[in-house]
Amino acid sequence: MDRDDWQRVCEILDDPSRRRSETNQRKYMLSGLVFCHCGNRMTSTSAKRTEGPTYECSPDKLNKDGCGGTRNVMQPREEYIAEQVFARLDSRG
Ligand SMILES: [Zn+2]
Repeated sequence: MDRDDWQRVCEILDDPSRRRSETNQRKYMLSGLVFCHCGNRMTSTSAKRTEGPTYECSPDKLNKDGCGGTRNVMQPREEYIAEQVFARLDSRG
């Protein structure tokens, strides 16, 4: 990521118009998009009010090799990931 990209991300994150669309559902929008260090897809678990959403690398039928690790994705990081995803979707046309 170069300096211009970073600038753009900052501008997107600072854009107040984005915040209007904030919903509870949005909290879990990264379910299936967050990956564990072991390479498996993480699924969201119920979040406590005071914490960000937690993602879990839980062994299940979609994720047989899940290591059971959990990860707290704090909001800025999650939003950053989301922007990267959206940017990719946008560039697809
Ligand atoms: Zn894992």
